[in-house]
Amino acid sequence: MSLAEKCGVFGACVEGDVFPTLYWGMLAQNHRGHQSHGFAAWNGEIDHYTQLGLIPPNQGFGFNVKTLKGSVGISNVRYATSGSLDMCARQRDAMPILVKGEKRSVAISFNGNIVNVRDLQKRVGVDQSYSDTHALALLILQKLEETGSIEEAARACMAGIDGSFAVTGIVDDGTLFAFKDPIGVKPLCYGKSGGVHAFSSESVGLDINGIKWDHEFRPGEFMAVEEGEAIKRQLTQSSRRAFCAFEFAYFMRPDSRVNGRFVYQARADFGRALARVFSEKAKRCNIVVSLPETADDAAYGFHEEAGIPWERATRRHRYVTQRAFITDAEDRNSVIFRKVNILEPLIKGKNLAVVDDSIVRGDTTMGTVKRLRAAGAREIHLFITYPRIIGPCFYGIDMATYSQLIGARMTSEEIAKEVGADSVNYLGIEDYIKCTGFAKNQLCLGCITNDYPTPMADAIAKQMWERVKRGEAEKGRIYESA
Ligand code: SF4
Repeated sequence: MSLAEKCGVFGACVEGDVFPTLYWGMLAQNHRGHQSHGFAAWNGEIDHYTQLGLIPPNQGFGFNVKTLKGSVGISNVRYATSGSLDMCARQRDAMPILVKGEKRSVAISFNGNIVNVRDLQKRVGVDQSYSDTHALALLILQKLEETGSIEEAARACMAGIDGSFAVTGIVDDGTLFAFKDPIGVKPLCYGKSGGVHAFSSESVGLDINGIKWDHEFRPGEFMAVEEGEAIKRQLTQSSRRAFCAFEFAYFMRPDSRVNGRFVYQARADFGRALARVFSEKAKRCNIVVSLPETADDAAYGFHEEAGIPWERATRRHRYVTQRAFITDAEDRNSVIFRKVNILEPLIKGKNLAVVDDSIVRGDTTMGTVKRLRAAGAREIHLFITYPRIIGPCFYGIDMATYSQLIGARMTSEEIAKEVGADSVNYLGIEDYIKCTGFAKNQLCLGCITNDYPTPMADAIAKQMWERVKRGEAEKGRIYESA
């Protein structure tokens, strides 16, 4: 499977030069966005730098990107789920976004998606080609100029916005800040070691810098670091929490943790649960095969529970780094083809239990099944850890229409036929929730239940689904065309 997360964010305040911390913290999260990367640092004023593409690896000859001076900074990797997709717009919307007003300036790094983006664009006076992040940065600047307080600016974001956001930022006085939306859709954690404070989408951004994880942000939480001192405020109280359930199956690195639980542990439990629920199907299979790397832990759990050997029959090319979900539609299959090689001697004549994280459009699954058949597989049973995706995402994952989702149009049996597999077996929603360690009302399950945790998204989804059922065509991203 292949899909795109909108972004990864990072921010740090250190005693010396912050750039190396920003670089490594962001490189560890490059899986969250491939279209552009960027850095901003404060050294008396805010300087920033953005570039299209992946963060260049450090090959021992220095950082290979423009380095910035200062002890406070933020960084970002991005994949666009808002705004125009042409190259100029991608360059303009690359993050961090730095906005300057008459009196103040602020830079932000953003992960999420704003559903009422049209209202926000009007409110801050920009046209529809501007990304939601750009509009949000302008709202923060407006409120900062009006009130003089970054905390009040964050409060304004929480009050007027339907959607998801995890933000790190720096103000022109050198304050580092971070906040999360009132229902907490996106991951964002805080860590501290000695005089170093850092905010990161995933805990791996802290680990790589040797910074001790402290806590996952609560929904509606705001933190700021001023002159080396951290403060924490709860700006909103919500009875509903809605952490993205899909982060566990696909986006987060297996060595990241949420709420004290590592993602690999949840994935291994998904695999165990699949083997239990579909034990009769599992018995037909000779070997377990995973499509590296997001399904590896689930395949291991499946193999443990079912007692079937797990063969590493697919191998990943180490230096092909694109994530297929994060590429344009026409490139997606060729990325998978280039990225994964199949070891025919391990496949030939066998009945395969193929463990994968999800099926979104079905095109990459179909391509994989074809290759396994060509390698001589006798039966192919797909075991999918993420329940059937039946609705678009409003919160920053690149599946923005009903019509692109094979699971919105077809049952498991129909999907199996369409992709050429002998069976498709999805983990059920209740079993999936149990493995995450979250309660049902703490997760966003919008794309697998069609019930969305924010009012505007829920209303648009229901209207659009009625229109799709009537045969009307969708025009672009659901939240931008509604
Ligand atoms: S709709 Fe799905 S992908 Fe989007 S935030 Fe909710 S659970 Fe995650």
